[in-house]
Amino acid sequence: MSNRKDWYRNNHPKASVIRKMFIWVLVIAVAIIVVLGGYFIIRQLWSSGSKPVSLEGDALQSSQPAEQERPDQNTKPSKDISLTEESLESTSPEPEDGKSVEEGQTVAEGSEEKSEESSEESSEPEKIVIPPIPERSYAVVVLDPGHGGVDGGCDVTIDGVMYKEKDIDLAVALYVRDYLEQMDNIQVYMTRETDKKVSLDDRPVVGNEKQADLFVSFHCNSFTKDTAKGLECYSHENSAESGKISEKLIACLKNAGLDTKIRGTRTADYKVLRESYYAAVLFEMGFMTNAEDLKNLTDEDYQKQLAKALADAIYSVVKK
Ligand SMILES: [Zn+2]
Repeated sequence: MSNRKDWYRNNHPKASVIRKMFIWVLVIAVAIIVVLGGYFIIRQLWSSGSKPVSLEGDALQSSQPAEQERPDQNTKPSKDISLTEESLESTSPEPEDGKSVEEGQTVAEGSEEKSEESSEESSEPEKIVIPPIPERSYAVVVLDPGHGGVDGGCDVTIDGVMYKEKDIDLAVALYVRDYLEQMDNIQVYMTRETDKKVSLDDRPVVGNEKQADLFVSFHCNSFTKDTAKGLECYSHENSAESGKISEKLIACLKNAGLDTKIRGTRTADYKVLRESYYAAVLFEMGFMTNAEDLKNLTDEDYQKQLAKALADAIYSVVKK
């Protein structure tokens, strides 16, 4: 065997060249493997050293806006809250992250509130978490004149003159605003101050955004019988707090000496009441279908007198 091998080595003309080429290929292949291997190892080491830092940074950034949005988003499902809590836990060990720890406390409180409420009323699919009215040195009231613009509300025509509810609602509400603004420690907002249409959806939003101590809608009534007369105050059937306020307002108005009947309190499922997070009432200030009420409601002096009585009543329940 060895003889034949040696013979082949010595006599084959290309044997040595092939052997040298094979060795060089082997050397180059090994060199390539070493270089590539080294490159990947260095790359691996580099990425394993820097990646956790950048990941942490990303997690931090993504968790912060989520936390900031939390208080405004009342309808956030509990699933999201637990997710943000998780992401918070992963970032909170960072000592520089003091802000996130504070925000974490807010989340924890919110989720507690959420779980308490959901255990009370588990039948409701979506539970709105309503932020409490903040401690303030002044009261906030939102006045909501009914209708406006193309929506005239009730209208009655007498001797060729058309009286529109929207005008009475606005006139009285503006006088109420003026009276309230003369009183101490009260901030008044309005859903409209001019003859413009405001949707029913947008009205309670104003009260909710301002976190109003009281939201007050102003309307006029109508009925098929012209004998129906007087003023009523409505609250939503599900709001005991609004019901109590409604009772107090009516009690005040009974002592105001207004030239109409004070009919009392009622409950109704009106949208502006139902969708108000905080106390909300709606006045039906009189019947436009009753001659005496209509005469009063369209009279500037009576409007002012009524507005003063309403402002005094409102102030008595919200004053700080
Ligand atoms: Zn109306």
